[in-house]
Amino acid sequence: MMKDNMVKSENGEYSFIVIGGGPAGYVAAIKAAQLGAGVALVEQDTLGGACLNRGCIPTKAYLKNAEIIEEIKQVNTAFDIDMPATVKMKNKVVRKLTSGVGSLLKSNMEAAADSLGRCLHLPPKVSMPGMNR
Ligand SMILES: Cc1cc2nc3c(=O)[nH]c(=O)nc-3n(C[C@H](O)[C@H](O)[C@H](O)COP(=O)(O)OP(=O)(O)OC[C@H]3O[C@@H](n4cnc5c(N)ncnc54)[C@H](O)[C@@H]3O)c2cc1C
Repeated sequence: MMKDNMVKSENGEYSFIVIGGGPAGYVAAIKAAQLGAGVALVEQDTLGGACLNRGCIPTKAYLKNAEIIEEIKQVNTAFDIDMPATVKMKNKVVRKLTSGVGSLLKSNMEAAADSLGRCLHLPPKVSMPGMNR
């Protein structure tokens, strides 16, 4: 990577900045770090993006819950859904996976930092010229 293309931040220099810690962003950041780039990943909300926080994972957690309840209802028609418990279970699954992504990022990017003297930097937000937010 060309020195001129490096992006400077107050905490160091990055040759690769990923905006967004969803499935696309965290995979790209890890791959770039494994290839030796100085990587910064910027996420404005929670790691894992739509998939882990609102999309794939929450819907599958609810779906599995609904399937189990359907089966129970076949033997106990009075059985009903406990929605607060269902949401709590979904939140637990989401937390486990988003913190797993955090650990994955940290371990991969710290490995790059150890060998290359570069660091992982996770500011809450980034603004770039031309970005409308
Ligand atoms: C209800 C639902 C169910 C789904 N189910 C499935 C499924 O079963 N299987 C499947 O393959 N896909 C599913 N998807 C699609 C899947 O969620 C998306 O394809 C996937 O999340 C896209 O990943 P991404 O990283 O491109 O974007 P996102 O997941 O949207 O991540 C983008 C991230 O960037 C961050 N960001 C945005 N702008 C900025 C900024 N300016 N600064 C800092 N951070 C920023 C956001 O906060 C977000 O975390 C589902 C989606 C929904 C909504």
